[in-house]
Amino acid sequence: MSAPPRGVSRAVPGSVRRTATRLADGRELLYFDDSEPYVSGGATRELVDRRDLAPVRRSTRMRRDPLTGDWVAIAAHRMTRTHLPPADLCPLCPSGTGREPGEVPADDYDVAVFENRFPSFSGEPGEADPVDGDPLWPQRAAAGRCEVVCFTAEHSSAFADLGPRRARTVVEAWADRTAELSALPGVEQVFCFENRGEEIGVTLHHPHGQVYAYPFVTPRTEALLRRAAAHRAATGGNLLRDVLDAERAAGSRMVLSGQAWSAYVPAAARWPVEVHLAPHRDVADLAELDDAERDELAHVYLDLLRRMDRFFDGVERLPYIAGWHQAPVRRDRALGRLHLQLFSVLRAPGKLKYLAGSESGMAAWVNDTAPEAVAARLREVAEQGTAG
Ligand SMILES: [Zn+2]
Repeated sequence: MSAPPRGVSRAVPGSVRRTATRLADGRELLYFDDSEPYVSGGATRELVDRRDLAPVRRSTRMRRDPLTGDWVAIAAHRMTRTHLPPADLCPLCPSGTGREPGEVPADDYDVAVFENRFPSFSGEPGEADPVDGDPLWPQRAAAGRCEVVCFTAEHSSAFADLGPRRARTVVEAWADRTAELSALPGVEQVFCFENRGEEIGVTLHHPHGQVYAYPFVTPRTEALLRRAAAHRAATGGNLLRDVLDAERAAGSRMVLSGQAWSAYVPAAARWPVEVHLAPHRDVADLAELDDAERDELAHVYLDLLRRMDRFFDGVERLPYIAGWHQAPVRRDRALGRLHLQLFSVLRAPGKLKYLAGSESGMAAWVNDTAPEAVAARLREVAEQGTAG
C-alpha cells in the first residue's frame, strides 16, 4: 500500500477547518469541520480510504444541439449509479465499523465534500470531435467536475434540521468550492444545488447537495445574460439588482428581508412554490460574500427551508430544488448577480406538477397559483419573531 496521503489542513473564516485528502481511486475528499477537536487542529480526520477502488476513467462527451445551441452531456455510465440504497448501505454515511465502507472513510464528519463517482462532467477539455465527422453536430469532452456535499453525518436529518452553525459551515464549503472550481481549466460556470425528495428524483436519502462545474455557460444563464445586456443598454441598470429593488418597493411578493438578504416570490414565477433569495450588495457569486453576509445567509436560508416545510398542511417535508445562480466565471461577471432559486414541484399535498406538453415541448409555462398568494402563505408560516 502506498504512503497515506498527507492532509492539507487550514483554518478558514467562520471558524471552519478545511482538510483535503484523496479517496482510494484518486478523487478528492474535503472535510469542513466546525467542531472540536478538529476545528482547532487538535485532531485530524481519517485520511486513508482502505477500499480497493480502481481509478475511474470516464470519457463523458457532450454534443451541441444544432437546433437550440445548447450543450447536452451524454453520460451513459451514470445508468449504473447507486439508486436509493437501504440506510445501512448508504455511501454518504460515515464509514464506521460493522457497515460497508462508504465514500467518507471517517467515523464521523461535520460537512464533507468529494468528487462524484458517477459524474456528468469530468476531466480536462480536449479536441473537438464532431459526431459522425459532421460539423453540424459539434462534440467535445464534457470537461468539468461534479462534487457531492454532505451536509451532515446524520442519515435521517435534513438541511432544515441543521443548526445555524452547521449551515454556516455549508455556506463556507459552497464558497470554497465555487472559488476553487472556477479556477479549473475550461470551467465556465459553477452551480451549487440541492435536490430534496424522491419526487425530485434523488437517488440517495442522506442530506446532501451537489456542485457542478460546467464547461459552458448554461442555457438559463445565457438567456438571463441576453436580457441583462438589453436592460443595461436600455436603462444603464443591472437587471437583477433592479428586480430586487422593485420587489422590495412593491412589497406584495416579499417573503423576508434582513440586513444583507431579501427573499421574494418572483412576479412571473413558473413553479407552484417558488422563492428567490438575493443579497442586497452586488456580488457575482458565493465566494464574493463577506463574513457578515455569510453569517446572515445561514439564518435566512434555514428560515426559508423551514417555511417551505410548513407551506402545505399535512406535508412535513416539501420536495424542493434549491439552486444558486452565479455569474459565469470568465465573462459577463457584471451582468450576472448571485441569487438563489428555491422551488417545489408539489402543487398540493400528494399532487405533483408534471411538466405538461406546453412546458416540456414548448417551454411555455402555465402556473396555476398566484405568486402574491404564495408570498402571503410564506409570510404566514414564518416562525414567531422571524416575520419581516
Ligand atoms: Zn447516509
